[in-house]
Amino acid sequence: MHILISNDDGYLAPGLTALAKKLAEISRVTVVAPDRNRSAASNSLTLDMPLRAERMANGFFSVDGTPTDCVHLAITGLLETEPDIVVSGINNGENMGDDVLYSGTVAAATEGRFLGLPSMAVSINARMPQHNETAAIIAARLLEELLKNELPADTILNVNVPDLPLSEIKGLKSTRLGQRHRSEPVIEGRDPRNKKIYWVGPPGAHQDAGEGTDFHAVEHGYVSITPLKIDLTNHQRLNQLDDWLKEIEL
Ligand code: MN
Repeated sequence: MHILISNDDGYLAPGLTALAKKLAEISRVTVVAPDRNRSAASNSLTLDMPLRAERMANGFFSVDGTPTDCVHLAITGLLETEPDIVVSGINNGENMGDDVLYSGTVAAATEGRFLGLPSMAVSINARMPQHNETAAIIAARLLEELLKNELPADTILNVNVPDLPLSEIKGLKSTRLGQRHRSEPVIEGRDPRNKKIYWVGPPGAHQDAGEGTDFHAVEHGYVSITPLKIDLTNHQRLNQLDDWLKEIEL
């Protein structure tokens, strides 16, 4: 087996190192990751400049692109043999609810899925995680199961792990995405030349965080596992849209 590992925090991120170390115990691994933090890069591909991949001292490939670039490049050209599976993470911070639309971690897994491989994104819900090892062990266990027992090809696993010692994890829960309130406002400041600047503010607080959501599971000490699909069509609204369109005359 050959696992491709990527992330969005950059090739030096502790979560990536912990994941690669653990997965190397069960498989051959190749790490292809951004040269710096590209969190919230979503599914962007770099089309306006070439990409460069450099093998670093730690054996990882560093790419001057987005997480999606990394996985795309790895699978479609950089690696001599195609990997069997893509694992992205361990992200420094949760990727739950609406976060998945912005997440570079989830995007790296999505790219693996687009290119025909089973894939999984792993995040830990702390900004200064103490227990990346826990998330790495859980990723390895899920991966072993995924290889024995495949999931349908349209499924990406989005895994969020509480920042706890393994012995304090209550179990694994399948979840749906929760929802956040709208984002906090931008934060204004002044640059050294007294021009106005803006920092994008924090994400909104949890809105739908009830039982069954990813937020709820992680808050209660469980590993949250959400099966994601890429079809964003709101199938339930197709008929209603048909009626709505009938009112429009061209
Ligand atoms: Mn990140």
